[in-house]
Amino acid sequence: MKVLKFGGTSVGSSKNINKVIAILETYSKDEDVICIVSAVGGITDKLLFAGQQAQNKDAGYIETFKTVEAIHTDIINALNETPTKSLIDHISITLKDLRSLLDGIFLINELSPKTSDKLVGFGEKLSSLIIAETLINRGLSAARKNTQELIITNSNFTKAEVDYSISNQLIREYFKSSDKSITILPGFIAKSRNGEDTTLGRGGSDFTAAIIAAALHADTLEIWTDVSGMYTTNPKLVKQAYPIKNISYQEAMELSHFGAKVLYPPTVQPVLDLNIPIHIKNTMEPEADGTIISNSPSNGSKPVKGISNINDIALLTLQGSGMIGIPGFSKRLFETLSQEKINVILITQASSEHSICLGIETNEADRAKTAIDQTFEYEITCHKIEPLTVEKDLSIVALVGDNMKNHQGLSGKMFSALGRNNVNIRAIAQGASEKNISVVIAEKDVKKALNTLHEQFFEIKTKQLNVFITGVGNVGERLVEQIKAQKKYLKDNLKINIRVAGLSNSRTMTFNEDGIDLKDWKSVLAAGEKASLNVFFETVKSMNLRNSIFVDITANADVASLYEDYLRESIGVVACNKIACSSDLDHYNLLKRLSLKYNAPFLFETNVGAGLPVIDTLNNLIASGDKVTSIQAVLSGSLNFVFNNFNKDTKFYDVVKQAAAEGYTEPDPRIDLSGVDVARKILILARESGVEMNLEDIENKTFLSESGLQSDTVEDFYQTLIKDEAHYQKLYASAASKGSQLKYVAKFNKGKASVGLEEIPQGHPFYNLEGKDNIVMFYTTRYPEQPMIIKGAGAGADVTASGLFADIIRIGNN
Ligand code: ADP
Ligand code: ASP
Ligand code: MG
Repeated sequence: MKVLKFGGTSVGSSKNINKVIAILETYSKDEDVICIVSAVGGITDKLLFAGQQAQNKDAGYIETFKTVEAIHTDIINALNETPTKSLIDHISITLKDLRSLLDGIFLINELSPKTSDKLVGFGEKLSSLIIAETLINRGLSAARKNTQELIITNSNFTKAEVDYSISNQLIREYFKSSDKSITILPGFIAKSRNGEDTTLGRGGSDFTAAIIAAALHADTLEIWTDVSGMYTTNPKLVKQAYPIKNISYQEAMELSHFGAKVLYPPTVQPVLDLNIPIHIKNTMEPEADGTIISNSPSNGSKPVKGISNINDIALLTLQGSGMIGIPGFSKRLFETLSQEKINVILITQASSEHSICLGIETNEADRAKTAIDQTFEYEITCHKIEPLTVEKDLSIVALVGDNMKNHQGLSGKMFSALGRNNVNIRAIAQGASEKNISVVIAEKDVKKALNTLHEQFFEIKTKQLNVFITGVGNVGERLVEQIKAQKKYLKDNLKINIRVAGLSNSRTMTFNEDGIDLKDWKSVLAAGEKASLNVFFETVKSMNLRNSIFVDITANADVASLYEDYLRESIGVVACNKIACSSDLDHYNLLKRLSLKYNAPFLFETNVGAGLPVIDTLNNLIASGDKVTSIQAVLSGSLNFVFNNFNKDTKFYDVVKQAAAEGYTEPDPRIDLSGVDVARKILILARESGVEMNLEDIENKTFLSESGLQSDTVEDFYQTLIKDEAHYQKLYASAASKGSQLKYVAKFNKGKASVGLEEIPQGHPFYNLEGKDNIVMFYTTRYPEQPMIIKGAGAGADVTASGLFADIIRIGNN
């Protein structure tokens, strides 16, 4: 004989009830089945809501009642062409009783736990009536039995305790005499020894099924729900979660106690000793394997079996230097909570015994505070103990696994994974059995914590990066396209899963936690909300995704000023924008410190030489113990373009205009031509070499004419280029007369740096530098005579985008 239980979603619509009926029909061909049903999904909450409305003298309860009535009537009509008279009669009597009860609550405006149990029980009564009568109407051998006649409890309303000796006897007697193939029973409800309506606690239909299965020594207990088993973690919060095939009773119990709602925690107890396996199945996908909960030891399997969470936790801390000397201190504390019927979920105590922390449900926190402060009133007045502190809006996240005790370093991995993602741990508890490690964290961090831990313990091989790109113009567009093209390769080969979770240009911005669809990203962005730097930051922060990376492809100082805010939230920063790294030394140092402190990478490879691996190479040299003695470099793709094309047959003005038109200069060409841009780059290289320096310390030997330097606007500046053509031709002629080439060179030597135009003779590595190429020569202790040279295109949207992409991948590989 099999016992099957169908949850709220499974009986939540006529369509799903038809699936349930199909399953029952198939099963009953081979053996008798007992089927426990929940209330129609959402009805228990609606009944409670109606009760509260009535209690508060809100006549709206009538509307809520009517909704409940309509939901059931619709289901009956969809399931039965002509409902049986018995069904119609039973339902109308039951609804009438329900209405009278609500009217009564309204009249006396009181909803005691006892009345509440009577009220919510209507949900299961209605659903079981409908399903049983529909089966009979369709010609199946079926009957309905009211569980209240079989399960007897004490009078602990809303969560009554079962009297197994009476209940087992009643259950056995009933089924001995029953000859029906299918018996439908309402879950959740029972009766007290005094004949009052009771319930087994929210989610208690699972428990009803377990009690029946145990009483009858059933072969298996099947719990049919809306997911394909017990998952590695809550599948609603972690997309990558997957069903666990086999799990031990202890593990299942631990996971459900710590919030895995798929199984009501007391369910395991009745079947455990009898070794009846629990099979969790999906009504919407009956062919899926589901999860088998049994006594099979989990030797050899993964150490961590699952991760669960409980929200709405409050942390109570009792501390004080006088605590050590107070006799029976813990006894008094726990007695107080027990008298108040407050359930303690988690306990931690420092070995100094100066403080004790307890995790309880938030809605009991105020009551706990009043009671505990009262118990220790005397000690508090004598300042031996401080008044109890209460922190709310917390959650418990627990790692569970029988096999955890055989593995070292799991808690370390757990804490560091959370730490890397800026999830602050408020308290830690580990059972002596080592089946469970729990941490208390802020509720707002739960989703991120579950995803981080799931990645750490179940998908060790893939790392999810959540990328937020601002300044999506020319370069940004290429970056998005490159990410789109490489996504699969990175996932398959580097085990990095990149999601573009936010995009912004100067007009609009858009976000998507699951990743923006890159097939259509341009129209998604265009349809986004109005762009705002602050709102962008606040959104990235509140999305609170693990491994978040902010990518700045603007040249905007306001964006750069927000890096510190991002880093403080443990959000990595990848910058194309040079402003931050070439800003005041204190600010640069601050960003570096924040990056270390908050474990948030701060990378800016594209600040120098676009996509060329200049900074990364330099960092590797330094990290491996090398020392930079000098640097010589041509770092401006735009100036290189200008001087490669400028000669006696061209005009300086035309060449600069062409460079601007082809996108090789900044919108204001003075930033390039004045040498400021190159000065910023050599400054960054000097700083990354370990030298503390500011932009003012760099000697800038300008080649611009006096009037060029004085010009106020971009237009004025262009005019001076026409007017001062002779000045520029003279520079060319001087170099040409010596057979030399003009190159704009940046130098760093013995702690000093300079930038300026130089005449480069034939044979020098800079001489043949073409187009927009850059070149950097590092002279170091290990490369004293022959420098290490990095050369290649140093400007252009594609190479810059690939430099940004390389920084993102570096973070993923780390
Ligand atoms: P039913 O109404 O069938 O009793 P529940 O809503 O009580 O269903 O339980 C199923 C739900 O439990 C799932 O839809 C899922 O959201 C939630 N859940 C939480 N943690 C887990 C987990 N580890 N595995 C499966 N489901 C989980
Ligand atoms: N209907 C009850 C509830 O929603 C019991 C159950 O579904 O298990 O809590
Ligand atoms: Mg449930």
